[in-house]
Amino acid sequence: NAPWNDPQAVPLIRFEGISKRFGDFTAVEHVDLAIHKGEFFSLLGASGCGKTTLLRMLAGFETPTTGRILIDGQDVTAVPPYERPVNMMFQSYALFPHMSVADNIAFGLKQDGLPKAVIRDKVAASLDLVQMSRFSGRKPHQLSGGQRQRVALARCLAKEPKVVLLDEPLAALDKKLREATQLELVNIQDRVGITFVMVTHDQGEAMTMSSRIGVMNAGRIEQVGSPVEIYEYPGTRFVADFIGAANMFEGTAKGGEGAVSVTCPELEHDLAVQGAPKLAAGAAVTVMVRPEKMGIGRDKPQSGQNWAEGVVSDIAYLGDVSIYHVRLASGRKVQALRTNLHHGEDSRLTWDDPVFLAWHPADSLVLTK
Ligand code: ATP
Repeated sequence: NAPWNDPQAVPLIRFEGISKRFGDFTAVEHVDLAIHKGEFFSLLGASGCGKTTLLRMLAGFETPTTGRILIDGQDVTAVPPYERPVNMMFQSYALFPHMSVADNIAFGLKQDGLPKAVIRDKVAASLDLVQMSRFSGRKPHQLSGGQRQRVALARCLAKEPKVVLLDEPLAALDKKLREATQLELVNIQDRVGITFVMVTHDQGEAMTMSSRIGVMNAGRIEQVGSPVEIYEYPGTRFVADFIGAANMFEGTAKGGEGAVSVTCPELEHDLAVQGAPKLAAGAAVTVMVRPEKMGIGRDKPQSGQNWAEGVVSDIAYLGDVSIYHVRLASGRKVQALRTNLHHGEDSRLTWDDPVFLAWHPADSLVLTK
């Protein structure tokens, strides 16, 4: 049972009422956030949402305008970066090119004035953690991109921080290497058990790597949750739209809680919804359905299903799946995803085909914010 699922567990990191203003611009607005020991926590958001500023305040490179930050019970708000038990992993191109792998890692430890023998042990231990012991004598240019990344991490771990901070650590890598390195970083983090806090704008990266994600929007944290929670149960329209693709139907609730129905002006019939929060009759709501939850076909769906009619307007063939864009009578487009299990399928839909979309009431999420 993970500590972040235990309401009694004491968090390792705590942001309390943290805001940051630059002049009259508010970059971070009243963030309360708890991160637990052993987590791989990601701050996810679009460019300019304040995620880097939040990370830099944790590192001590920026001072909050309001609020305080605690690490392991200690108020570090006024503590300088080098005295905090955190260390930032810089991108691999920040390695010193003229130094060997071992010397790169030893560099910071020498600056701390540690005895030679201690440095040697720490360098060896951190290289071992990232499984790079064999490469200790090489120069950075004699390593692959992924190996350089591991050295950058070893350099960071050698200082034995309680928290490792990563700001878009994989942004410089190409897609294949990035995906391989994502899993590698997670494996190393799991092995060392140190808390990682990462900033990324890449939702796939955050979903792949994180125990929990804090989704940020305009300086605020919109939602904190595991990748599954954030995707399956987004709390707001913003999160639903930002993580994955979302079909949204605007409507008004008929009232009630649990199994309710929603009247949507653009559909001729009401939508049935299961697991809805308590809704006042006439409340404005959005019904959200993920593309993979939406069936698509030529036949009218069975009763008990929600459905909509439309015409195929675009098909994105992605190999494993195809995404069908379907134009409704209202003119709005929705997406349905189909797995391409059988190749050369006769019933394959094509442009301008009239189709029915169908989905289960339990796959319709009601959003009120
Ligand atoms: P990106 O992914 O582009 O780095 P971000 O979410 O990390 O975006 P921040 O770097 O935290 O965003 O910046 C948030 C906002 O604060 C931006 O609008 C930025 O221009 C502004 N900002 C950041 N640092 C400063 C600064 N030193 N002075 C003035 N404004 C700043």
